[in-house]
Amino acid sequence: MKRAIIYARVSTEDQAQHGYSLVDQIDKCILRAKEEGAEKIIHCVDEGFSGDLLARPGLTKARNLIKTATINFFICFDPDRLARKLAHQLIITDEIEKHGCKLVFVNFNWQNTSEGRLFYSLRGAIAEFEKEKIRERTMRGLRQKALQGGLTHNPDAYGYDYNQATNSLIINEREAEVYHLISSWFLDESLGYSAIARRLTSMGIPTKRGAKRWAATTVLRMLSNPLYKGELWLQRYDTVGKKNNKYLSPDEKVKVTEHPKDHRVLIKVPAIITSSTFHKQLQQAKRISRLSKSRANYLLSGLVFCGLCESAMTGTRNSHNAYYRCTKGKHCPQPYLPSKVAENAIWNEVIAMLSNKQILDGLNVSDAECYEVQVLRRQLYEGEKEYERLINLIQRGYVSLDDAEERLTSVKDRINRLNISLQSQSTKKEQDPKTFQLSTKLKSLSFKSKQRVVRSLAERIVVFPDYLVLYASIPPLVAANNCPPSGT
Ligand SMILES: [Zn+2]
Repeated sequence: MKRAIIYARVSTEDQAQHGYSLVDQIDKCILRAKEEGAEKIIHCVDEGFSGDLLARPGLTKARNLIKTATINFFICFDPDRLARKLAHQLIITDEIEKHGCKLVFVNFNWQNTSEGRLFYSLRGAIAEFEKEKIRERTMRGLRQKALQGGLTHNPDAYGYDYNQATNSLIINEREAEVYHLISSWFLDESLGYSAIARRLTSMGIPTKRGAKRWAATTVLRMLSNPLYKGELWLQRYDTVGKKNNKYLSPDEKVKVTEHPKDHRVLIKVPAIITSSTFHKQLQQAKRISRLSKSRANYLLSGLVFCGLCESAMTGTRNSHNAYYRCTKGKHCPQPYLPSKVAENAIWNEVIAMLSNKQILDGLNVSDAECYEVQVLRRQLYEGEKEYERLINLIQRGYVSLDDAEERLTSVKDRINRLNISLQSQSTKKEQDPKTFQLSTKLKSLSFKSKQRVVRSLAERIVVFPDYLVLYASIPPLVAANNCPPSGT
């Protein structure tokens, strides 16, 4: 018994543009299948699917059948119903032929000859070209609209309201205030995304959609979205195929990629933060992602870079020793760096930096103030800033006093505690050989604490075959120019 698969497909636009109805295609295919002498006909149909993708449920069913059962004919109305991409057409064609099945198009005389292949390829190329042309036209439309300053959609972003009359974004003052709070937790307190989300949730601040619970990914997206520095990018992501992602197995899923810069369209919107704050947020986000991927047992992990090729260097070990090695592997001549050597060198440097009166003096840290006082002062300043922001939110009626009370009390407590420690520090300071005391303390730290100290000081460590360069910044809590005015 001869068996035929008939495959038909329409996308939503096709129906409008070409009048290719599904029923039409199926009828013509059945007619053709009968002409070919098929006795059993199997229908494989995709309705509302773009021809850009291989992963369509109907096509997948057909391809599986061809592999597992004896099918004599694969019948399709037109090559562009099969696929719109040349590469895909060729893949499917090969697959069909390999399994001894005959590929038949109703309105295209396909013969498995070199001429046939050429025509077939050309048709594929043209289908692809048309698709590209449509994309171009869409982009042009978007650009034109953007040039006139209008939005093409409501981005529904926290911190902004959409003004339908003018088709533009305006700042939502209360939400913008919350955004500032988030930004300062992230930059000044080095709070992670989940911690920020928890704090927002516990303060009873609703999300844009009115939900009570904040997600860490929402916070991450907000901190890394250029919208807040006034740039709304359209066409940033390549979404082709994303719609069908749910039909794909995990390893076949379409990865979301970004369009190149010149494919994107920029719309200027009012900024909530400055470019430089945004830049700092991005840097901090990069740092967090690097450090979170770093290996637990390596003190310098996430901070070490190869001086020869600028790649990152990661921890590795053989049976005897641990090393840092360039991630370019054998493509880079950088020798393995024994971790003991590197870690001792850097740690000694860190101790020297923190104990060196000249370095501290060079930063204009007043003689009377040791590192710890600076830390306390900075924390106090942050506490007071947060207190102010909270009060501001309550006054504007955005957060109720009840909801924020717990947080307010804890901030207030912290401020009090810090004030007390500051006072005791400054009464102690006369007889305090502070730099000496500091370095003894550093020597007895646990691995985790050492890692924290190194991470707070070292920006990056660049490795050359016979020396290391440590790029360090004394953190804002020590650097005088960023230091809050004393005596507050
Ligand atoms: Zn390298």
